[in-house]
Amino acid sequence: MHIAVLTIFPAMFDLFWEHGIVRRAASEGLIQPQAVDIRAFTQDRHQVTDDRPYGGGCGMVMKPEPLARAVEAARNRINEGVTVLLSPRGDKLSQQTAEGLARQRGLIFICGRYEGVDARIVHRHVDCELSIGDYVLSGGELAAMVAMDAVIRLIPGVLGGSDSAACDSFSNGLLEHEHYTRPREFDGQTVPEILLSGDHQAIAHWRRKMALIETLLRRPDLLESRRLDADETDILRQWSQKLKRILKDQTAHRPDSLSGRQ
Ligand code: SAH
Repeated sequence: MHIAVLTIFPAMFDLFWEHGIVRRAASEGLIQPQAVDIRAFTQDRHQVTDDRPYGGGCGMVMKPEPLARAVEAARNRINEGVTVLLSPRGDKLSQQTAEGLARQRGLIFICGRYEGVDARIVHRHVDCELSIGDYVLSGGELAAMVAMDAVIRLIPGVLGGSDSAACDSFSNGLLEHEHYTRPREFDGQTVPEILLSGDHQAIAHWRRKMALIETLLRRPDLLESRRLDADETDILRQWSQKLKRILKDQTAHRPDSLSGRQ
């Protein structure tokens, strides 16, 4: 996959391409990444990329001409794919968005700076706007790295085990179960017995159960919007019966429910 990141700070990406999964993907030819310096597309002596906003107000706006030229140059290299603007006004990045982007032939990311980019760039050149959360960064570079990291690891062949991305949190609508490695006992805490049993079926079942309970406790909203299978419904039903019993016993033991006591 060809990836171009349009930025006024291309050096920020040098380290990003050079580490971990992203580096491996690049060295195996699964991605062809490039940070494109927007300043190289200015035509004035001072290589200005910003200007004052029409209508007044605070801050500066990214000038459209150098950006348009940078996008066109990137499009000439990457003629198939989508152009993404990082923006706090965009759709929130999710695992589903990342999966969709990982299926593209090429990606062009535009990193805003100052108060953002001239709206005409968005109208003409941008296919989608992506936000990494409800907070404001000083530039789109870190947001682009977050989005690229989430996308690159989903490109087929990038992760070692063919299904390791499929087990991750969110990919099946649940948070992932917890993990343990050696030593067997650490800091007075032991590894759950089942993980040492060698019984793969029982382990898989335990992991599913743990994923379900982690999700229920931390992110019940994920369960509300997910279609549960028969096993999962069964597990939840059993818990709800247990909870009901516990609550019933608690009510029975409450001092104010005991006759004669206040
Ligand atoms: N004035 C803008 C913020 C500009 S911040 C506003 O209030 O909406 C400068 C640049 O940082 C943006 O153009 C965008 O590219 C990037 N950026 C800031 N916050 C971001 C976020 N949450 N997600 C993605 N990009 C963000």
